Parts: sequence; structure tokens; C-alpha cells
Amino acid sequence: MQLRRRFLLSAALPLALAFGLPAAPLGAKEMPESQATTEARKPNVVIIATGGTIAGAGADATNSASYVAAKVPVDKLIAAVPQISTVANVRGEQAFQIGSESFTDEKLIQLAKRVSTLLKQDDVDGVVITHGTDTLEETAFFLDLVVKSDKPIVVVGSMRPSTSLSADGALNLLDAVTVAGSKEAIGKGVTVTMGDYIQSGRDVTKRTNVVPNAFFSQWGPLGMVVEGKTYFYRTLAKRHNTSSEFDIDQIDSLPLVGIVYGSGNMIPAVYDTEVQAGAKAIIHAGTGNGSVADYLVDKLKDISAKGTIIIRSARVPDGFVVRNAEQPDDKYGWVVSHDLNPQKAKLLAAVALTKTSDTKELQRIFWEY
Ligand code: ASP
Repeated sequence: MQLRRRFLLSAALPLALAFGLPAAPLGAKEMPESQATTEARKPNVVIIATGGTIAGAGADATNSASYVAAKVPVDKLIAAVPQISTVANVRGEQAFQIGSESFTDEKLIQLAKRVSTLLKQDDVDGVVITHGTDTLEETAFFLDLVVKSDKPIVVVGSMRPSTSLSADGALNLLDAVTVAGSKEAIGKGVTVTMGDYIQSGRDVTKRTNVVPNAFFSQWGPLGMVVEGKTYFYRTLAKRHNTSSEFDIDQIDSLPLVGIVYGSGNMIPAVYDTEVQAGAKAIIHAGTGNGSVADYLVDKLKDISAKGTIIIRSARVPDGFVVRNAEQPDDKYGWVVSHDLNPQKAKLLAAVALTKTSDTKELQRIFWEY
């Protein structure tokens, strides 16, 4: 924290001079020259842009929901927030220019490989990924599982385009770069920095599709970023990044995993369609505690007996699915997703299936990640 404060003071000097403020803040001259030079090194952060609302533009300032996402290129995004240059040396890369609903496994793998390559470089201290908010939580979790680096990786989006009244993208981006360049964020896992909060990419989910404060973690945020400083209050208890057994350098494709959404009066044939399409696992996004309707139980038992993994998750946003409650998972050879929502369970299943299809091993992985 001390180092960071000194860095901010030195970064603020040119600004202070420009505005006629005292050039040497108290304490600055106590620092020996060589130490000052080392401590003042700004972190190097690469911003990888993928599109989304943070790169969106609307026809009018009142358009908070009707606008075109994925329009503004990365250099313009960076140029629009000149304060970033006081926090870090940044450069941008345009990976994609898409709405995040159009992410595919191929794009996810391509992005993760690029992040992994960048973070192996000594001259890169952290990476920020600008992203649409729809599937932001999925990309963040995927990177958390497969990028073997402790350096900060921050995924950021915005709920309003830059053209909108009370646009949230500029501050979110500045905060994301702050976190990506901060020593405190090292080893904390992939984070999502939006609305002043630092959330765990593993835990966070998009909870509403209109207002800015859209991201929520049922276990609480990791911390906050306020006026250029990070404040961490908890750490992620689950395996991630360097403690993960998965490595994007070893992954070139992901097996297909489907999700079937639970409700009353379901259509059993949907599960068969998933199997016929090649799904290696099906996430049953059940009601309540991942419940399975009585008229579906034999169908799911049959599917898992023939080799497609059944994973019970829940459509309920919080809490977690309890193994062997509601259904005898041990007896049927089913897996439970624990607290992972269906879309995150789908990703973990796909990543885990690159190594094993043993249901006991898969369940261990679901407990540990
Ligand atoms: N549909 C957009 C996307 O996910 C929404 C957003 O960015 O907020 O790319």
C-alpha cells in the first residue's frame, strides 16, 4: 500500500505542475532517488478488447438499452479514459468485436491462449479483458480455471454504452486497469471489476439486464477499488490459476456440454436431442435443489448408463445443490455442480472432461473448483 501511494504521488506530479499545485508533496523528498525510480515504475497492462456494451454506441444519450454493442475499437476505448496513463502503461489488442452472447468455445480458447502467452512475458504485469456483460462471468471463470499465472487478470464490461447518460464504462475500465496493475491482486484469481467492486470471476454472476449494478456474488465481493486504490477483504477458497490442474496450453478444444433448463411439464425428448448432438455431459438446471421430475428420472438414468454424464445444477440463483438429497446421486452415478450455476457448471464440466470422464473424479473436481 505504501509503495502504491508513492507511485500515485509521483504519477500525479505532472498534473500538479500543470494546475499550479505544490510540486513536492510532503514525504516525497524523503525517498532516495534510486528507490524512487524503482518504486515509481508503472505496471504494464495489456487491454484485450472483445466487444460488448463497453464498446457500444447509441444514437442518443438517453439510449441506455437500445444501442449497438461492439462498435468502438480498443484504441478509442483507451483514449477516452486518459486517467489510465497515470495508473499504468497500457497497450490495446483487439481480439474480437462481438456481443458476448456470440462467444464460442473456439473464441474462448483463443482468448485464454493469448492471455496465457502475454502473462508469461516479463514485461506484462497484468491483463484486462473488455467484454460484453452477457457471458462475462463465463469467460472470467474459464480463465480462472485454465490460465496458469498468478498475475492479475481482470474482466470488465459496462451496462451502458459510452454515449449514454451516466455511462459506467470509463470508470469500470480505469478500475480494471488499477486492479490489473496492483500487487494486491496477484494470486487472487480472475476478477471482475465493475461498479467499484472487485468480484471473483468464479463466483460472480449477472443478476439483472438493465441497471448498472448488475453483477453479484452470493459469497460477497473480494473487495473494492476506490479512487485508484484496491481494498481486498477476502480471498477465493477454490482452486484457480496456478493451483488449477488445468492448463490452456494443453487444451485445443472442449467437448460439447448441454444445459437443459428445468420447469414444470418438461419435454423429455430434449435430453435425447442433446445426446444425439454429441453432448458428453448434460447440465440438468433443475428446480429447487436440482430436482428431477418423476417422469424424467428413468430417462436420465438411462442416458448416464449409456455414458453421457448427468450433472445436477439448479435454476435457483443462490445456495447449492446437495449431493444425494432430492436424488440418490451415488446410486445413479450422477454429479452435482455444488454452488456453480448451470453456465459455470457447463464450463467446468467441459474443462474437466478434457482429462477424465470418471464420475467420482468429476465430482471431486466440482468440490474443488
Ligand atoms: N449483449 C451485450 C454483450 O454481452 C450486453 C453487454 O455487453 O452488456 O455483449
